[in-house]
Amino acid sequence: MAFDYDLFVIGGGSGGVRAGRVAAQGGAKVGLAEEFRMGGTCVIRGCVPKKLMVFASGHGPAIEAAKAYGWDHAGGKFNWTKFQPMLHKELERLEGIYRKNLAGAGADIFDARATLKDAHTVELSTGETFTAKHILVATGGRPFLPDTPGAAELGITSNEVFNLDAFPERILIVGGGYIACEFACIFNGLGAHTAQWYRGAQILRGFDDEVRGFLAEHISERGVDLHVGLEVERMERRDGRIWVKGTDGREDVFDQVLFATGRVPNSGGLGLEEAGVKLGRKGEIVVDDYSQSSVPSIYAVGDVTDRINLTPVAIREGAAFVETVFNGNPTKPDHENVASAVFTQPEYGTVGLSEEEARAQEPIDVYCAAFRPMQKSFIGVDERVLFKLIVSQATQKVLGCHIVADGAGEMIQLAAVAVKMGATKEDFDRTVAVHPTMSEEIVLMKTPTRRD
Ligand code: NDP
Repeated sequence: MAFDYDLFVIGGGSGGVRAGRVAAQGGAKVGLAEEFRMGGTCVIRGCVPKKLMVFASGHGPAIEAAKAYGWDHAGGKFNWTKFQPMLHKELERLEGIYRKNLAGAGADIFDARATLKDAHTVELSTGETFTAKHILVATGGRPFLPDTPGAAELGITSNEVFNLDAFPERILIVGGGYIACEFACIFNGLGAHTAQWYRGAQILRGFDDEVRGFLAEHISERGVDLHVGLEVERMERRDGRIWVKGTDGREDVFDQVLFATGRVPNSGGLGLEEAGVKLGRKGEIVVDDYSQSSVPSIYAVGDVTDRINLTPVAIREGAAFVETVFNGNPTKPDHENVASAVFTQPEYGTVGLSEEEARAQEPIDVYCAAFRPMQKSFIGVDERVLFKLIVSQATQKVLGCHIVADGAGEMIQLAAVAVKMGATKEDFDRTVAVHPTMSEEIVLMKTPTRRD
């Protein structure tokens, strides 16, 4: 049977674009449909604009530090109306690059919503239908909003946060995950009065327990009004602002309430189940190690599969899919020891196992150093950094590395190479320190802080 396309990709985000581009470069006839903007969540309303806001917010504390270092004229206030157009101009530029690279590889781009009609057919919102030998679903995720009274009408999510008309003087961030912690630090750094309410006992559930406590302490010390064990009971519009009642009875008023209460796979209304594609409990497309769904011609990569929901992972999954399906070289995306960073202030970079995960697996040595870095202690800022290695007692392999410090995101990328290669504690110890740096501590920790 002749198909219109060798590959039709639904979703123009990181995973879909990578797969479409590489397949087209290899000679496949590729079509891709995107209903919103090319680049997907990462480029348009996720990692990229978030990181630009992280940069912007870092200048608040930096101005204070500059004054303490002897600069006379450091000062000023963050100007959202100046920053926001710059941000959107940059996003448009990046969107253009995504579009150009994909089209340049020879793929057809459709600015339309696509749904499945059957195992080999997609229908676009324009009314066109196309057949394809393979279909790749790369539709990502979308924010989840709890059914808290008033949340749907008055709350915003990370989808809206980059488009605010005015900079909020007072903002409440709901949640304790990556997005909540990052935006709490961003708005705090930009000068907003920032409260963060998290329902659980400690933020960043699933990460290393010691780091969670350390980070919560530092986020609070930097000025975020962080409360755990607290949820929004209801919210109402009052006098042009948002009145919020907490589950502990407290009442407060904010200009914005940002719900960062998780993301769910974007799999609804695509005709997936009708086409026979098996979905999991959260709506994720169930795939095998090669990203193939229960329908052999339909594959899925990225957040819609809810494996590891990170851009670089989606990109690897997209590339592995092309290698498997178009290059005759079955390739499983590697989900082992994926490093990541939470862009809080200070940042948290992590690779491998948490202390708790490692201990559940085998006897471990834990090496830990928490200290005041020279840059901060010089000006009397009482803030510590944390370097932590989790080491297998049996093999001496480094099972996990955790860093909380300004720039930890950059540091962990390099440490991740060593951990991925299976470096032992002795390999770290043999490496001569780079002095004076904070990160030299990672090769200078001689005695375990605890063993068990
Ligand atoms: P997370 O899953 O990290 O966090 C969701 C938070 O919302 C948790 O604190 C959770 O609480 C809370 N929550 C969930 N449901 C409710 C509810 N009904 N009421 C109140 N609170 C609720 O999701 P995020 O949205 O922060 O991020 C999504 C994913 O995006 C991340 O997992 C990550 O993979 C990716 N991401 C990565 C970033 C990076 O690499 N720097 C940055 C941003 C996102 P509880 O813990 O109790 O379940």
